[in-house]
Amino acid sequence: MVASRAILDAAATRANPSNADVVALDRANVFHSWSAQKSLNPLAIAGGSGSTVWDHDGNTFLDFSSQLVNTNIGHQHPKVIAAIAQQATSLATVAPAHANHVRGTAAAKILSHAPANMEKVFFTNGGADANENAIRMARLHTGRDKVISRYRSYHGNTGAAIAATGDWRRISNEYARGHVHVFGPYLYRSEFWSQSPQQETERALHHLRRVIQAEGPQTVAAVLLETVPGTAGILVPTPGYLEGVRALCDEYGIVMILDEVMAGFGRTGDWFALDAFNVTPDLVTFAKGVNSGYVPVGGVIISDEIAATFDERVFPGGLTYSGHPLAAASVVASIEAFEEEDIVGNAARIGSDHLEPGLRALAEKHSVIGEVRGRGVFWALELVQDRTTRTPVAPEYMGRLKIELLQRGLLPFIADNRIHVVPPAVVTAEEVEQALSIYDQALTAMTI
Ligand code: PLP
Repeated sequence: MVASRAILDAAATRANPSNADVVALDRANVFHSWSAQKSLNPLAIAGGSGSTVWDHDGNTFLDFSSQLVNTNIGHQHPKVIAAIAQQATSLATVAPAHANHVRGTAAAKILSHAPANMEKVFFTNGGADANENAIRMARLHTGRDKVISRYRSYHGNTGAAIAATGDWRRISNEYARGHVHVFGPYLYRSEFWSQSPQQETERALHHLRRVIQAEGPQTVAAVLLETVPGTAGILVPTPGYLEGVRALCDEYGIVMILDEVMAGFGRTGDWFALDAFNVTPDLVTFAKGVNSGYVPVGGVIISDEIAATFDERVFPGGLTYSGHPLAAASVVASIEAFEEEDIVGNAARIGSDHLEPGLRALAEKHSVIGEVRGRGVFWALELVQDRTTRTPVAPEYMGRLKIELLQRGLLPFIADNRIHVVPPAVVTAEEVEQALSIYDQALTAMTI
């Protein structure tokens, strides 16, 4: 063991490591998320620019994953990099208790694009702890305990956030109490035998109402929903669903939390995904696209009403790096670049003029595509063995498809039986055309 460690240290210090050096170094030393470790063979990434990344052996890839759906501004945006460097030279860290100019500016910039009832920002290190603290605020504000969230959702990898999550990642981590799950709208695989979007909305809302009643409305602190569930399949809510949830929350005095960690900051072609709906939440959580993850950051946007709860009362929560200045500087620069370059508008136009028609044309050609859904730069292709039964393609199919895509120079985002087509919000029409051609070639090369 010691000998192999010494050899790998030599690889690590090589001036121009190869992919093999980097992967060997990783496999010997790095413990990866959500994985059995032994069979892993990660892709080595050396650098990136805009919508492209490259490895150490001279291969480039169109990044249609945006990494973990977070590089909304693309890789290495010069304005954001310069702002981080500039901040690092003046004040690289500062405790959260102090007032700091760049932190205050970051909060003000975020609030300038948030719904009008939003008053304050609590900064966290990422998305999970944003949801964790939003849940805490809702519980303290209402004096109630339970949190209702969806089975098809992901809210992060901390105590309450993972218990609120709907997918397999929750099952071995359920140590927090007071979590209840419901099914939300998903017409393609309706849990409610619905035939139309209207039916799906009505039935999903009826189901939610009955769960609230059965749990005891006086015990429910919050309904926590991803505005558009992302990892679960880019499930754009059926018309009227979110508005109906808001009405139920009002009826029963429940806090509505929208998780915009993945869907926010341009991903859907709006500043926040909630902008496309007639809904005003009480708390909004964010991370990822706010600064494209150049420095870890997330947070909770807090309504005036909930902020007032903590005017006289202590909020029992905090983090050493809450509002870290490097993160704050990257947030300010990122939002300014979004404004100056109309990046949200670009995401909307790319969605309506290029991705939607291009992906629908792919579905005409390849019967393995059962459904195309999404908006902006947030799309899913649901792959099925048979369009009538809608049986998902096997995991082995998705593994082979990933290889076909990588071999043609596209880094995909694959989740279950779906390709999530999620490029940076700065992606160009030419890059989309190139990617569509690669998806086409890879699907053509596949057999079920
Ligand atoms: N919420 C949503 C919707 C997410 O997609 C994620 C991460 O993918 C999280 C929360 C957790 O964010 P983080 O990984 O920054 O803790």
